[in-house]
Amino acid sequence: MDLLEYQGKQLFARHGLNVSPGHVATTVDEAVQAAADAGYPVVVKAQVLIGGRGKAGGVKLAANEDEVRTHASNILGMDIRGHTVHTLWIEHASDIASEYYASVLLDRSASAPLVIFSVEGGVEIEEVAHNSPDKLVRRHVDALDGLSHAEALAIATEGQADEDVREGVAAALKALYETWVAEDASLVEINPLIVTPERQVKALDAKVTLDDNALFRHPDNQGLSDTANEDPIEHHAHEQGLQYVKLDGDIGILGNGAGLVMSTLDVVAQAGGAPANFLDAGGGSDAAKITQAVEVILSNPAVKAVLFNIFGGITRCDEVARGLITAFEQIKPQLPFVVRLDGTNDVAGRALLADAKLPNVHAAHTMNQAAEMVVALAAGLPVPGTDDASVGS
Ligand code: GDP
Ligand code: MN
Repeated sequence: MDLLEYQGKQLFARHGLNVSPGHVATTVDEAVQAAADAGYPVVVKAQVLIGGRGKAGGVKLAANEDEVRTHASNILGMDIRGHTVHTLWIEHASDIASEYYASVLLDRSASAPLVIFSVEGGVEIEEVAHNSPDKLVRRHVDALDGLSHAEALAIATEGQADEDVREGVAAALKALYETWVAEDASLVEINPLIVTPERQVKALDAKVTLDDNALFRHPDNQGLSDTANEDPIEHHAHEQGLQYVKLDGDIGILGNGAGLVMSTLDVVAQAGGAPANFLDAGGGSDAAKITQAVEVILSNPAVKAVLFNIFGGITRCDEVARGLITAFEQIKPQLPFVVRLDGTNDVAGRALLADAKLPNVHAAHTMNQAAEMVVALAAGLPVPGTDDASVGS
């Protein structure tokens, strides 16, 4: 479970990390009240489960009430790479002397926790790893011993944190490690970890992922899964038991099995298209489930064409075909569909579809062909390699 920034900061504060006091707001008026409580200047921050909010215009400083109103009304409802902003976090703005980076995660290949620290914060850590790998300190921690003060200080020193704040950085790293262990997190990340002109070390951002399998040990954290901030389409899909992730393209995708769906996304991207979602209908998809899946895919207004990529193993292609026919009868979709059925009962499945003469449904025999067809259809171009809307093998 991923937490919003402000929820992550609450956990950080529990373990002694410095964070700025602030308040949540869901309306412009609440934002004004929150800003008055936090004290000007404030920073108005979109609360969405995706990074890069600053670059997208979702993080703005405000010196007075007028500016809070402007920024709050701009940011509420904003779409940040497929995530709609419903919640703001307003905190007292910090002055920044330096932006560092710190994180703790599990390094599975080393079977050990890994602490990462850099004085090059505020940018994507992958960028730092690429451009200045010498500025990145990676240190494994003995899970039984934990992170000692001496080790934390050694990381700050090796990372060349300003000398006068090395103790402060070490304390922050220890608190971050404590958070990771005590809250059963799989990732805790602070970017940026700032040094203020007063030389205080403070978490300006928070990215926390909790291990769902350990949530039963943390009754306090169980309420953190914030369905209001979940994308409404994702929320609906999850209620139906569908594995759905909204993406920002225009080609709806449905497949069976996470691996197949992921490679479908890749093949569509390779063909020049942009997937609108990940949707794994799972094994043994029956007609009802396919109908639900089609409804979920089409509830995203960005979708211009849909690709069904089914490889029948446990899933029987004739079941999928029946599901598709039922879905079409109920929903009467206006969009083009490309269907690739392969594997168990594929001949029967394709025959069913051909008999049904569904409008605007195109059959494909390979994944690559299916991808090229759906990309053309989404762009409103003629379909390569087929005659018309007929389906058949
Ligand atoms: P992200 O873009 O989603 O990672 O959001 P962050 O919370 O990291 O904020 C993005 C950037 O906004 C930070 O790297 C800072 O440069 C800036 N920022 C955020 N909060 C403050 C603040 O209190 N004061 C100042 N001066 N800048 C801030
Ligand atoms: Mn950040």
